[in-house]
Amino acid sequence: MKQEQQLALQIAIDGPAGAGKSTVAKLVAKQLNLFYVDTGAMYRAIAYKALKNGILLEDEPSVSQIAKTTEVILDHSEEQSVWCDGENVTLAIRSTEISRAVSIVAAYGEVRKRLVELQRKEAARGGVVMDGRDIGTHVLPDAKIKIFLTATPHERARRRWMELIKAGKNVLLEEVSQDMQKRDRQDTEREVSPLEPAEDAVILDTTGYSVEGMAAKIIALTLEDGR
Ligand code: C5P
Repeated sequence: MKQEQQLALQIAIDGPAGAGKSTVAKLVAKQLNLFYVDTGAMYRAIAYKALKNGILLEDEPSVSQIAKTTEVILDHSEEQSVWCDGENVTLAIRSTEISRAVSIVAAYGEVRKRLVELQRKEAARGGVVMDGRDIGTHVLPDAKIKIFLTATPHERARRRWMELIKAGKNVLLEEVSQDMQKRDRQDTEREVSPLEPAEDAVILDTTGYSVEGMAAKIIALTLEDGR
């Protein structure tokens, strides 16, 4: 790929929780030498800040204010850390508490407006692989490649459960599955930028696929399209 093509390249990866977006997106970014932007981490950072400040998640004006005034930074070095007003929140934003809170704050129009601004700024840095729920439909509508990743609900819950178990959390698969279904419902049914495939997205089911296999498929689609 020519350097100018690579600088302008945008790959949007959307899909529900546990579909494998972030692991696949990171690998695609690494192999194509692009930035990886995890937009879910930004919404999680706002949920974290709201809870830390004792704000009720249902209090939309206060949560919106938090979104306007909080500095959220994604560090693109190898470690991919997330910073919220100078605090490294990379691990804290992955807690069950934040996973349960995040879809509530992500439904607010003002929160989305502010974070979409930041996401587009990130994309302006150069070639990017961005994952989330509304990247192909809203954040980067002109992305050259739009992927919608899915997997069966059982597989998605099992993956998330394994991640939590590996991180030393004592959780039941059934509990993870219920939380995930609730989050998917909230993300799909909200009014502002709901989770849905873009009209021109390629829908890929990751069930039974390795991360490497799925990344290779996306890279092949990208290079095919670039010729
Ligand atoms: O990707 P992740 O599971 O970390 O995203 C957490 C939550 O952030 C999602 O369930 C959704 O509510 C919200 N989100 C969103 N739009 C995005 C990315 C994430 O609404 N582009």
